[in-house]
Amino acid sequence: MRVFCRECGELGRITKTHRLSRDTADLYCQCTDAECGHSWVSQMSYSHPLSPSGRTTSQLALSLINSLNPDGRQALQRELNLRQ
Ligand SMILES: [Zn+2]
Repeated sequence: MRVFCRECGELGRITKTHRLSRDTADLYCQCTDAECGHSWVSQMSYSHPLSPSGRTTSQLALSLINSLNPDGRQALQRELNLRQ
């Protein structure tokens, strides 16, 4: 991730990350231009998904399968065997 100094436009360096929550973090930044020397805090936050996580989808499927009764599991197995 790149950050830029708002004072001079040069590239900034993230020197420290302070995670505030699962979705937000404060980024402590420093301008790489020695003459400028500006330092600041930027905030990074999660916005929205573009595609679902494969892990989430798998965990959701497994928890659904685990909640099925024996008849439901057999029906699912038959369905999966038909699709192979
Ligand atoms: Zn600067």
